[in-house]
Amino acid sequence: MNYNFEIEKTINEIKNRGAKRVLLQFPEGLKPFSLQVVEQLKEKLPNIEFLISTEPSWGACDIAEDEATTLKVDLIIHYGHTPYTWYYPKFPTVFIEVRSNLYISDQQVANLKSLLEEKYKARRVSITSTIQHVHLIKQLATKLQEFDVVVGKPSSPFMYDGQILGCDYKAALNVEADVYLNISGGLFHALGVGLATGKPVIKVDPYTERNEDLTSEVYKILKVRYGKILKALDAKTWVIIQGVKTGQNRPLMVKYFEKKLKERGYKVFVVTNRSLSKDTLRNVDNDEIDTFVVTSCPRLPIDDLYDYEKPVLTPGEAKMIIAGNLDKYIFPW
Ligand code: SF4
Repeated sequence: MNYNFEIEKTINEIKNRGAKRVLLQFPEGLKPFSLQVVEQLKEKLPNIEFLISTEPSWGACDIAEDEATTLKVDLIIHYGHTPYTWYYPKFPTVFIEVRSNLYISDQQVANLKSLLEEKYKARRVSITSTIQHVHLIKQLATKLQEFDVVVGKPSSPFMYDGQILGCDYKAALNVEADVYLNISGGLFHALGVGLATGKPVIKVDPYTERNEDLTSEVYKILKVRYGKILKALDAKTWVIIQGVKTGQNRPLMVKYFEKKLKERGYKVFVVTNRSLSKDTLRNVDNDEIDTFVVTSCPRLPIDDLYDYEKPVLTPGEAKMIIAGNLDKYIFPW
């Protein structure tokens, strides 16, 4: 396993809390390791009952509190995230960060320097990361001494300097830089940094050992997003999607959009949803509906629902329409 599941810490937490029945929750990318984790825990805690949730989980916005209550467990162990910026579970929960053991090789750093110098003539460089690689921020900063490296403060005390989430880019937005580096695997977090800052963004990927300049990819996404925003300007009927996962339920935001969209003369409906997909949109869709705005998770309109046949907007995009100002792209909120 290339990840540290902090087995000893987990065992101590379970013992100290006197838990007998424990629900383990893993995000999608870590689920394949769940059986191995249980085996390791069982070796030291043979009398504890472990259950593994296979429900989808993408963030700490989505702690399996309902499941834990139904299953009558004593404790949730949530792997792969720090607590969410805007919600903390009421159910007893232990967060295990699951840091990656991968590192950024000297060769990859050398390639990165060339890219920063030759393509961008960069002087000031921001470094951000997902939680799995956040310890690499300092290591990379010390190897980029030719540049003025800045690492921004995050939005909550649960997070580390430079740490971002798919819906929280404060650590990038809190600093000014010529180029923004994001240490992560996958695409979404780095693209999010580009969408939120509007600046060149390079993904420093410890899995592939490659540096990917995503600046033109962000530009392509922006063109598509503006197309959807322009189409939504002609809408008559909007549907606001309210999330019902506790950490994704944002009633004040829903009320705000309902009020502001009605003031602008739109007809507005609110629908609720737990796990949004194209199929769930199609089930409610009809000829009257012109545009959707998703208040649960701003990743969904950009990632999973980007090719839905009608505009499916993020809260930031809906705000641009309400403000009547399309000059500055707002992501995510
Ligand atoms: S991006 Fe979506 S899934 Fe990830 S933390 Fe934010 S709301 Fe949750």
